[in-house]
Amino acid sequence: MSEVFNFCAGPAMLPTPVMAKAQKEFIDWSNTGCSVMELSHRSAIYIEMAAQAEADLRDLMAIPENYKVLFCHGGGRGQFSAVPLNLLPEGKSADYIVDGSWSKAAAAEAKNFGNVNVISIREEHGDGEVSLTPSDKWPLNSDAAYVHYCPNETVDGIEINEIPDTHGVPLVADMSSTILSHEVDVTKFGLIYAGAQKNIGPSGLTIVIVREDLLGNAQKATPCIMNYKTTADNDSMYNTPPTYAWYLAGLVFQWLKEIGGVKAIAKLNQAKAELLYNAIDSSDFYQNNIESQYRSKMNITFWLKDESLNKQFLTQAEEHGLMALKGHRSVGGMRASLYNAMPIEGVQALVNFMQKFEKGNR
Ligand code: PMP
Repeated sequence: MSEVFNFCAGPAMLPTPVMAKAQKEFIDWSNTGCSVMELSHRSAIYIEMAAQAEADLRDLMAIPENYKVLFCHGGGRGQFSAVPLNLLPEGKSADYIVDGSWSKAAAAEAKNFGNVNVISIREEHGDGEVSLTPSDKWPLNSDAAYVHYCPNETVDGIEINEIPDTHGVPLVADMSSTILSHEVDVTKFGLIYAGAQKNIGPSGLTIVIVREDLLGNAQKATPCIMNYKTTADNDSMYNTPPTYAWYLAGLVFQWLKEIGGVKAIAKLNQAKAELLYNAIDSSDFYQNNIESQYRSKMNITFWLKDESLNKQFLTQAEEHGLMALKGHRSVGGMRASLYNAMPIEGVQALVNFMQKFEKGNR
């Protein structure tokens, strides 16, 4: 098989050494004679593995003791409901910062469970450039139950680099497409959540990191499997967790530690993003309209100036082993997702192809 680089936004490519290890252990894990997916989540050997995965994630992100790490079902959208159910009591409101598709969807879902104050921070300049209101100018409500934002908008290719100062109001972040890609100070957050299928493992698992003092005030109607306190009190095993996804996430955490942790991968992610943005900016054949300080390093959107060439671009890219570059249907154009598992060789292969395609189609 010739080498393929998969630029899908999620489920996304996973590190090759992780996949090779999972393959080797697939039908006989830890000398049990069984696949890990065939074992009880209550067995001692499974519990040991699950605890190690949590310990490794805590280590990678320097998660303090007063935060719980939950391994949940339901994906990012599950958390769009779980966050207000757990953190938004009657009579209070929550601030939702909207800068793209996912933060907009999170706000819309939260409205089903309480009062939501939508703060749109997206600015479109006359020349078509997209920018954002800096976080110190956000009109936040000092009485809010929490402030929700999405630091990396997967569809739009927009990233908020600074951690907003919410003056003591708990900050909730949807880190689905940016978790573990660069260092963050967890103590600045009340809650962080992320669907696994980008930087953590396969879909089916969602990580929630929540400060302990925020537990225990869920709305009465909260389904028990969405209740953070119930989940925390039962070590994420109130019901059967996504056992195989948890195991694979554990392998990804080990891999990340072995290659130097978040600090090392952040350096590589920066180099990968620079390589691709430089290629886009140095050509008038391709364009990206996001102000440079808000450009995503994980999901890089770009457009061909002549959009009638889109189909040809995508077909030829696939012939070169460059998969899933089509932009999200709501924004069009192209999108290259450069998560942790994407090697810089993949980005170089994409840049080489873009330059070749440009030469052939000028
Ligand atoms: N938030 C973000 C930032 C996402 O990128 C996605 C999925 N791409 C979601 C939420 C929704 O995740 P899920 O499909 O797991 O519900």
